[in-house]
Amino acid sequence: MNIEQIYKDANALLDGHFLLASGNHSSRYLQSAKVLEYPKKAALLTDALAKMIRQNGLKVDTVCAPALGGVLAGYELARSLDVRSIFVEKKEGGMVLRRGFEIAKGEKIIICEDIITTGGSALKAAKAIEALGGEVVAFASLANRGFCKRVGGNDTTKPECALPESIPLFALDDFTFEMYAPEHCPLCKEGRSKAIKPGSNA
Ligand code: ZN
Repeated sequence: MNIEQIYKDANALLDGHFLLASGNHSSRYLQSAKVLEYPKKAALLTDALAKMIRQNGLKVDTVCAPALGGVLAGYELARSLDVRSIFVEKKEGGMVLRRGFEIAKGEKIIICEDIITTGGSALKAAKAIEALGGEVVAFASLANRGFCKRVGGNDTTKPECALPESIPLFALDDFTFEMYAPEHCPLCKEGRSKAIKPGSNA
């Protein structure tokens, strides 16, 4: 399964000149929601992710996603693993479980995202679950931006990674892009384009 090609085919992996939320520029950008536009394609991706998780012998009761970005990936992963799906939502800088969702003490939970960048939202979700007595057994993501080390991946953990190294991260592929401070951006130096905010024109 060529994950990068699947993202390209879905226009989820863009080539161009982008202004990232961090203020840096990049020639590539992952519009990760695009790869989930077609449920059958999403199911193929989460089936592959579920296979990786099962091969590790991990027992899972429930998938929990941080809303909004993780919800579709989390729901599909729960379907692939044949377990329950819940989500947590942002509140006052953290994440909370609402809408009548409950978890049992010791329930084994995977935190699932569509994309893990530094893992900040996933970590907040994990803290919310642990505060309610759940056990976070893994993090999972379709795409990994390469700041955190995934099981079987070649990248090392970068200082920006917020996820604890004691809990495994499963992801289908690493998408590690070069990023440049604007004053050092080679695309700006070429002078043929201006950095655009991805998503603002599409
Ligand atoms: Zn630039």
